[in-house]
Amino acid sequence: MKTALITGGTKGIGKAIALAFLQQGYEVVLNYDSDEAAALAAQEEFNMMGYCPLLLRADVSDEKQVVDMFRDFFSIYGKIDVLVNNAGISQINVFQDTTPEEWDRIFGVNVKGAYLCCREVVDKMIGRGGSIINISSIWGEVGASCEVAYSASKGAVIAFTKALAKELAPSKVRVNCVSPGVIDTGMNAHLSSAEMDELINQIPLGRLGRPEEVAKACIYLAENAYVTGEVLSVGGGFAK
Ligand code: NAD
Repeated sequence: MKTALITGGTKGIGKAIALAFLQQGYEVVLNYDSDEAAALAAQEEFNMMGYCPLLLRADVSDEKQVVDMFRDFFSIYGKIDVLVNNAGISQINVFQDTTPEEWDRIFGVNVKGAYLCCREVVDKMIGRGGSIINISSIWGEVGASCEVAYSASKGAVIAFTKALAKELAPSKVRVNCVSPGVIDTGMNAHLSSAEMDELINQIPLGRLGRPEEVAKACIYLAENAYVTGEVLSVGGGFAK
C-alpha cells in the first residue's frame, strides 16, 4: 500500500488532504505540532469513517523533532510515496512592525520546515520514486500587503519546489507545489466580514475555496507521473 505523510494534517487544508489520500487507499500519517486534543479529535473523526491514520507529533521547524518523526515513520512503514508539506503559519502586520523573531518564525515553519521534511525523505525516494507536494499560497505568487514575511516565505516555497524538482527528476522523485487562493479555514478566521467581502469581490469565481478543492489538486499531483516542478493554483481565478 502507498504511504503518505501530511504535515499539519489534523486541521484545515491538511486534514482535507489527509482524507483525500485515505480515500485513495493510502496509509496516511498525520503530523501535528502542539494541539494534541485537535489531533486526537481528527483521528477519531477519521476512525468513525473507517480509516485508521497514525498521528506523529513534531514541530516541523525543529530539526531534531523532524528527524525523530521520520525515524518513527520509517520504522513503521519502511518507505514513503508522498510527502505533503502543508504545515504553515501566517501573520498580518505592517512591514515595519515585523520583528526579526517573527520573520524567523514564519520562515522557520513555512520554508525550513519543508526543507527539513524533504531532507528526511529524499534518500528513501531516490530510485524507487516519490512525490513531494509543497503548499505555497497565491500570496507567494503575487504578494500581499501587510503579509510581507508570509508572502516572501511562500514565494521561497515556490522557488524551492522548482529547484528541487530539477535536481531530483533524474532520480524519479517529483516535486510540485499547490498554490491556494483564499480557502475557508481557521487561517482566515481573523478577517472581519467586511474584509472577507472585499476579498471575495476580487475572486472571479465569487467565493472562498474549500479545503477539499486544494486536496483534489494534491491527488492530481501525487498520481500524475509526468508532472514535476509545477505550481498549481487553486484560487478561483484570483490574481491570474
Ligand atoms: P490552519 O491554520 O488551519 O492549519 C495549519 C496547520 O499547520 C495546523 O494544523 C497547524 O497546527 C500546523 N502547523 C503550524 N505550525 C506547525 C509546525 N511548526 N509544525 C507542524 N505543524 C504546524 O491553516 P490552513 O488554511 O489549513 O493552512 C494550511 C496550509 O495552506 C498552510 O501552509 C497555509 O499557509 C496554506 N494556505 C492557506 C490558505 C488559506 O486561505 N487558508 C491560502 C493559501 C495557502
